[in-house]
Amino acid sequence: MSYVDEVIESVIKKNPAEPEFHQAVKEVLESLRVVVEANEEKFRKEALLERLVEPERQFKFRVPWVDDKGQVQVNTGYRVQFNSAIGPYKGGIRLHPSVNLGIIKFLGFEQIFKNSLTGLPIGGGKGGSDFDPKGKSDREVMAFCQSFMTELCKYIGADTDVPAGDIGTGAREIGYMFGQYKRIRGVYEGVLTGKGLSYGGSLARTEATGYGLLYLTQEILKLNGKELAGKTVVISGSGNVAIYAAQKATQLGAKVVTMSDSTGWVYDPEGIDLAAVKEIKEVNRGRLSEYKNYRPDSEYHEGRGVWSIKCDIALPCATQNELLLDDAKQLVANGCIAVCEGANMPTTLEATEYLQANGVIFAPGKAANAGGVATSALEMTQNSERLSWSFEEVDAKLKNIMVNIAHNIDNAARKYGFEGNYVVGANIAGFEKVVDAMTAQGIV
Ligand code: GLU
Repeated sequence: MSYVDEVIESVIKKNPAEPEFHQAVKEVLESLRVVVEANEEKFRKEALLERLVEPERQFKFRVPWVDDKGQVQVNTGYRVQFNSAIGPYKGGIRLHPSVNLGIIKFLGFEQIFKNSLTGLPIGGGKGGSDFDPKGKSDREVMAFCQSFMTELCKYIGADTDVPAGDIGTGAREIGYMFGQYKRIRGVYEGVLTGKGLSYGGSLARTEATGYGLLYLTQEILKLNGKELAGKTVVISGSGNVAIYAAQKATQLGAKVVTMSDSTGWVYDPEGIDLAAVKEIKEVNRGRLSEYKNYRPDSEYHEGRGVWSIKCDIALPCATQNELLLDDAKQLVANGCIAVCEGANMPTTLEATEYLQANGVIFAPGKAANAGGVATSALEMTQNSERLSWSFEEVDAKLKNIMVNIAHNIDNAARKYGFEGNYVVGANIAGFEKVVDAMTAQGIV
C-alpha cells in the first residue's frame, strides 16, 4: 500500500466518527500524492504525514453559563492547535450547534495550508463550541463568551495562538472575549483578531474574506482568459463572507442574484439589494424571509436551492458540504464556468471531481477564502507595531496577497503536471512551505 493510502487509512481508524476530518485529510493527501511519492522514503522514515495529521495539541472544556431565566446551561468548548511550523496558531472560533471535535479538526487542518498560502507567518488552529448565538440575548452571549474565555485564556496569547471569528463569532463575540482575556490575564495584546476599530482592530478585516474571494476569482478567471464583469453570480449564505463577496462582486461589475440562510433562499433577478440584506442580517439579526418586504418582486423559497439558478459563477459562502453532486450537475447543465469557495469545504469531494471533470474552474476554500485570515495576520502586524493602517493600505495588501495566491496555485499545479487543477495546486503550494519548516525544525 502506498504511504498516502496507509496514512489515510490510519487517520480513519484512529479518529472514528469524524467524517469531515477524514474528508479534509483525503482531499489534501490525495493531491499531495505526486510530491509524497517523489520523497516517499524520506517522508515515511520521518513520519512526516503522520505528524501532519496529528494536532500538536487539543483542548476540550466545559463552558457553563446562566441564561436569562436563571437556568444554568453547559456547552462544550474546543481549541485545536494543529501546526505551528510556520508561526503561532491562527484560526477562528466557530459557534454553532453542529460543532464537535471532528469539525474543529477538519477546520484546523485546512487552516494549516490556507495560512501557509497567504505567505504570512501563521500556523494552523481552530476552536469553537456547540453554543448557538442565534436567538440569545446580548447578556446571554456575553455570559457564554466570558465563560468560554475564562478557560481558553490559559492556552492562547499574541505569540502562541491567536483566535478570530468564524460562523457565529462576529464583532460582538470577539469584543466580549477580548474584554475577558484582558481582565483575567492583565495584558493588553493582540490575542484575538477581528477586533473593533476602537481597540486594535484593522480596517478592512470585516470585508476581507468576501473581498479576497472576489480578488482571487477575478484573477483566476483572468488566468483562464475570462473576465468577471458582466457575469451572473449565485451566492449561498448571508453572513459576513457572503455579504462582502456580494458587495465586491457588484463593484466589479457582476450581478449577484441569490443569497441564503439556514431556513431558505432568495432569488432576485434584478440583483440582490445588499442594503436590505445587511439590515436584516447585521442590524435585526433576522431571517431572509423578510427580504420580500424590501423587494416585492423577488422570490423566497424554503429549504435549499440556490444552485438551481442559472449562473456563470457560483460562490458557496455558507458552510461545509453545502454543494453536493446533484448541485454540481445542475451547475454544469446551466453553463456555470467557475466555482470559488468562500466557505470552508462547502463542496463535497464527488461534487468537486464532477465540476473539474466537466471543465468548471474550481478554486478551493483554502485558497479562495484565505483573505480573511491574511488580513487577520495584517491586524497582528499592526498590533505589534502599535499602529493602524488606512483602509486603502490594507485593501491593497489584501488584493496583492490574493493575486499572488492565484498565481502560486496555478504555477504549483502546472509544475506537477496538473494544469488548471487548483485543488492540487493549493494543497501542494501550501504544503511545500510547511514541510520545509517542519523538516528544518527536526522531529517535534
Ligand atoms: N475563520 C476564518 C477562516 O476560516 C478566519 C480565521 C482568522 O482570521 O484567524 O479562515
